[in-house]
Amino acid sequence: MEDLAGELRALAAGIRTHLEARARAGLVGVSRAPSPRGQRVEQVQANVAALPAEAVQPLTDPAALEESFAADSEPILPHAGHGLTLVRAELGDCQRCKLAKGRRHIVFGTGNPEAHLMFVGEGPGADEDMQGEPFVGAAGQLLTKMIQAMQLARDEVYICNVIKCRPPGNRDPEPDEVAACEPFLKKQIAVVQPRVIVALGKFAAHVLTGERTPITRLRGNLKHYQGIPVMPTYHPAYLLRDESRKREAWHDLKEVMALLKHMGAG
Ligand code: SF4
Repeated sequence: MEDLAGELRALAAGIRTHLEARARAGLVGVSRAPSPRGQRVEQVQANVAALPAEAVQPLTDPAALEESFAADSEPILPHAGHGLTLVRAELGDCQRCKLAKGRRHIVFGTGNPEAHLMFVGEGPGADEDMQGEPFVGAAGQLLTKMIQAMQLARDEVYICNVIKCRPPGNRDPEPDEVAACEPFLKKQIAVVQPRVIVALGKFAAHVLTGERTPITRLRGNLKHYQGIPVMPTYHPAYLLRDESRKREAWHDLKEVMALLKHMGAG
């Protein structure tokens, strides 16, 4: 991983040199005075260089990364698996909302960066905050069983939350916190490009569907988020409290399996 971190630092330096050379040559796409986007690129480069080694995913295509930086168009999203590394780098040591104060770890996401199926929960709990990975406590173990029941492995799907830092006392995230953090969920979805998203629980379902219907009525009804099918269902933590709801959740997951199969992605 040290090698990877070094590779990233070298790559960031190379990109900077390349962009400066293009700017000196007056080529389209790079201005001498940094644009707001140019400043964002520089910030991302700095964040990549500062990333801990364990947060760095392998770079399989540095040329594509350079291209993604050099292209002067929004959004700042690259292609292929290292895209999530850049989104994580842009997040950096995030202080964009008040949840930063009480967290131990930013819980970004885990799994296959090119997954067909993505699970989105609400936010980290105590176990997740401690370990820096989503869904690792009792609810996470149940989620893993649910994924396995779908004939998938946990590392075949992508798992994340709307909110990346633990709200104190596991309270619901507040609107300003969602507003600050949601852009990064959007970028994760844009990079992973799942064929189907499962929204786990009321909070994620409301954010992804834009509806405020109680989860008991929203679940099982296919919605869409930016053109991607979203299946709202119960959060595993809720299923641990009320096992009688597991039958409905399994029904929802079977609908997702059928949909993926219909898409040729199951
Ligand atoms: S919850 Fe999101 S926006 Fe707020 S500090 Fe954490 S990462 Fe940043």
